[in-house]
Amino acid sequence: MKNRLLFLGPPGAGKGTQAERLASTQGLLHLSTGDLLRAEVAVGSALGQEAEAVMARGELVSDALVLAIVRQRLEGQSAGDGWLLDGFPRNLAQAEALASLLAELGQPIELVVLLELDDAVLIQRLLSRGRADDNEAVIRHRLEVYREQTAPLIRYYRERDLLQPVEAEGSVEQIGERITALLG
Ligand code: ADP
Repeated sequence: MKNRLLFLGPPGAGKGTQAERLASTQGLLHLSTGDLLRAEVAVGSALGQEAEAVMARGELVSDALVLAIVRQRLEGQSAGDGWLLDGFPRNLAQAEALASLLAELGQPIELVVLLELDDAVLIQRLLSRGRADDNEAVIRHRLEVYREQTAPLIRYYRERDLLQPVEAEGSVEQIGERITALLG
């Protein structure tokens, strides 16, 4: 069973929901950079204060900052435990940095799940969620940032034979079954 996984897809595609579900059924560490950053904002740490305004604009927090968060969590994992990264990497520089970190740890990625969904559906879902960075202008900006900076990762992982697309329309259970079927 593959247990070092990465979830890719636009904001609103349901990465967080599916990642949480899968991590709990498979006993994986769920690492969401978005959740970790929001937790830092909530406690008002120096890191959180640095991230807050950037997140509210729908832009990406610095690579160095998110990489430090991810490195700290992954270093604490024993090889074989398994993990699921959600919301990271978000650009090519982060993907390269992740690849070298994982090579160092001897824990390469085994599968990248790409959740695919139409923009109209994404925007509707995000608007109904009502998080601080979920107003329409910021959502549109997050989608642009996704297209420009994150979507190139689709090709990056396809070229490395790791990418599996999943249709992210349907019930949470249906989508969950499609993902589980890819774990082998
Ligand atoms: P969504 O999937 O809806 O875009 P996330 O919770 O993954 O939401 O991320 C929310 C915000 O946190 C992003 O818009 C960005 O500002 C910041 N963020 C999360 N992950 C990263 C990352 N890997 N690199 C830079 N910024 C990030």
